[in-house]
Amino acid sequence: MSEQQDDCIFCQIVAGDIPSRTVYEDDDVLAFLDANPLAPGHTLVIPKAHHETLGDLPGDVGSDVFAALHDLTPAVEAAVDADGSTVAFNNGEEAGQEVPHVHGHIVPRFADDGGRPIHSLFGSRPDLSDDELDDIAAAIEDAN
Ligand code: 5GP
Ligand code: ZN
Repeated sequence: MSEQQDDCIFCQIVAGDIPSRTVYEDDDVLAFLDANPLAPGHTLVIPKAHHETLGDLPGDVGSDVFAALHDLTPAVEAAVDADGSTVAFNNGEEAGQEVPHVHGHIVPRFADDGGRPIHSLFGSRPDLSDDELDDIAAAIEDAN
């Protein structure tokens, strides 16, 4: 495990220095209720090791986090009798990530809750040509 970061709120939660309402824990992953929930049951899923973004996560830790998200999402929905959920990462400061310790949000959704889909985060869509789309797809394939 990489080192904890002393000034990181989520590392302090992992260490037990800041209390949290833990809903799941194993050797590598912790999940707890968000302190300022967007909906009842709003849960955060984090690697115990300090990594800032998804791209910083070693592959095995990424798999561990996703496995926990996979198991917890239906559990969270069932616990609060939700109709669905928005599962998302604010990945990087420019994307709205405020706590620089990677965390997945499970936000329960309810019919008529007034929330919107992830698409609504963006004001407009870029007008991309077929050539530009081909180039972008190839660049992603090469970079992976
Ligand atoms: P971000 O904007 O970084 O994706 O989300 C950070 C989330 O962490 C926010 O939803 C915020 O309410 C939550 N949060 C911040 N500090 C604490 C804390 O000390 N305890 C808990 N349980 N949640 C926190
Ligand atoms: Zn941390």
